[in-house]
Amino acid sequence: MSDAPAFGLRLENHYARLPGEFYTRMPAERVGETLTLLHANPEAAALIGLGPSVFSDPDFVPVFSGRKMLGDFQPLAMVYSGHQFGAWAGQLGDGRALLIGQARDAKGDLWDIQLKGAGLTPYSRFGDGRAVMRSTIREYLGSEAIAGLGIATSRALSIVATGETVMREQPEPGAILTRLARSHVRFGHFEHFHHRGKHDQVRLLADHVIGEYFPAFAGDYAGWFGEVAKRTAELMAEWQAAGFAHGVMNTDNMSILGITLDYGPYGFLDAYDPDFICNHTDEGGRYSFSNQPGIGHWNLRALALALSSLIDGDALVKHLDAYEGIFVDRFRALMRAKLGLVRREEGDDDLIRSLLQLMAKTRADYSQAFRGLTQTGEDWLFLFGPAREAALAWRERYRARMDGEGDRRAAMDAVNPRYVLRNWVAETAIRAVEDRGDAGPLDRILRLVQAPYAEHPGEEALSEPPAPEFAGLSVSCSS
Ligand code: AMP
Ligand code: MG
Repeated sequence: MSDAPAFGLRLENHYARLPGEFYTRMPAERVGETLTLLHANPEAAALIGLGPSVFSDPDFVPVFSGRKMLGDFQPLAMVYSGHQFGAWAGQLGDGRALLIGQARDAKGDLWDIQLKGAGLTPYSRFGDGRAVMRSTIREYLGSEAIAGLGIATSRALSIVATGETVMREQPEPGAILTRLARSHVRFGHFEHFHHRGKHDQVRLLADHVIGEYFPAFAGDYAGWFGEVAKRTAELMAEWQAAGFAHGVMNTDNMSILGITLDYGPYGFLDAYDPDFICNHTDEGGRYSFSNQPGIGHWNLRALALALSSLIDGDALVKHLDAYEGIFVDRFRALMRAKLGLVRREEGDDDLIRSLLQLMAKTRADYSQAFRGLTQTGEDWLFLFGPAREAALAWRERYRARMDGEGDRRAAMDAVNPRYVLRNWVAETAIRAVEDRGDAGPLDRILRLVQAPYAEHPGEEALSEPPAPEFAGLSVSCSS
């Protein structure tokens, strides 16, 4: 036992039970000289049983920057491979991430505690192992916003400013994010071993993942793959209904647990545009908003191939074929809830489709168009600009349909967010930190996106579509 601080966490070297070819054990590089805690998130801390007083513990910053070890846990960087933008990319791995702990919570669930931006690893390739403040804030807010919407995701515990200058397209301040996830195992982990012909390792990893995270599927590899496919389909439906585009759905960013992972150039829709591309590096629009569900399936096919030494081809195909139906069912259920439809009626699907078509044609604001459904009056019609008459006709039809559904307002407001992490809102938090060292807006915005369905009096401006100077703000892969 070491005397390194553990903050009372029940740590377990779980992943390291796998043989050494799955990772490299190593301490974090020493990144930066003057480390300061920019922000820490009580909601995420609570997930692993930590109270907010831990943030002022003198060991907090040293541990959550990699300077000091967390208890006797031996940090490690994981190896994985993947398909990037449709092409096999070979070995990737944790190039700037380091697993500094795995902790069992009171329920018995295991949580990965991972640093991002804590220095070079054997998998850094051409990278510097660093993360910039801008992208760290984006991941911090993005993952908490997705969690706030009730969608499965990694979480963000803290941001430490490193005081370093990091070179990207321009020099930028550096930061270290600590994120939590039940697991950081990706589709690409399985691809890594399969494509090297190491089928025993594929099996070891599957046993490891099933044993810890899918105990109901012990001994049933095919059933487990079906569950992964189901969770992926459901995640895609949740993203679509929320108006979220991940931006870089490479197989190395796809979670084996079906959670949202690796927030880079993601985006939430402002104006509804099915062809929305949030990542300006994605010139062909492979990961455009409306392509995401299909890409989820493409990625599952890559995973199926990686599991083909373990699972019979017919079973893989059966589960791949079930994907679309699961996606459609979930998406329909979510959209019905957004409209407040309870009874099943002929024409419901068409009602939903025609609203989306009208929104696409007029570029109506996605979130406002749904949140506004519970309001009476003219404001909602203004969202559709010159198509006011068509919007009015749709609303008449909708009102007639809602006759007899009872008062659905509270239920609808509980699924149509008022506060969405729009790009301009995230940018407001970033600029305050970068320009003035002010984490105040970051703190305020975090609270809004963690409770996105509530009204937050006085904060209404942060629910608005972008002002002209922020519209069309694009985000790149460089982070
Ligand atoms: P991403 O597109 O962010 O998911 O990253 C793809 C791969 O590049 C992963 O293996 C990352 O660990 C690695 N990577 C991204 N940025 C850096 C960096 N600055 N330094 C080292 N590795 C990086
Ligand atoms: Mg990644």
